[in-house]
Amino acid sequence: MASNFPSASSAAVRKSMQGNKSKNTIPELKVRRKLRMAGFPGYRLHWRINDSGGRYLCRPDISYPGRKLAIFVHGCFWHRCPTCNLPEPVNNGGYWREKFDRNLKRDIEKDDLLNQLGWKTFVIWECQIDALDPLKIATESGLIC
Ligand SMILES: [Zn+2]
Repeated sequence: MASNFPSASSAAVRKSMQGNKSKNTIPELKVRRKLRMAGFPGYRLHWRINDSGGRYLCRPDISYPGRKLAIFVHGCFWHRCPTCNLPEPVNNGGYWREKFDRNLKRDIEKDDLLNQLGWKTFVIWECQIDALDPLKIATESGLIC
């Protein structure tokens, strides 16, 4: 299990600062476990989705391709969780501001493009995971209609 949870070790922090492309993070593992508990074990990890022209669009953290459902597990720091509203780094403020803006813009664009392709998207914030009931995830994401 790759442990990319941005906490203690400087290696983990460095890794997460190289871009938020880390896979199999602890929050992702927790969500996957809850999806299995809810009775939906058939997800794909980092399933490649192309745009209508066959070009690479994205690889959502968790997908149900048959249902066209993409689930994103968002880290509160990188994706600027509105609930946590975590402080931005004080040093190199401009750099971080730009990076966060880019992340947010990319999230919105990706969401739009996926919706245009008929995919439903569902975001789970890192800080919500522990409190989320498996059935609630299944219901809110549209797995249970
Ligand atoms: Zn949060």
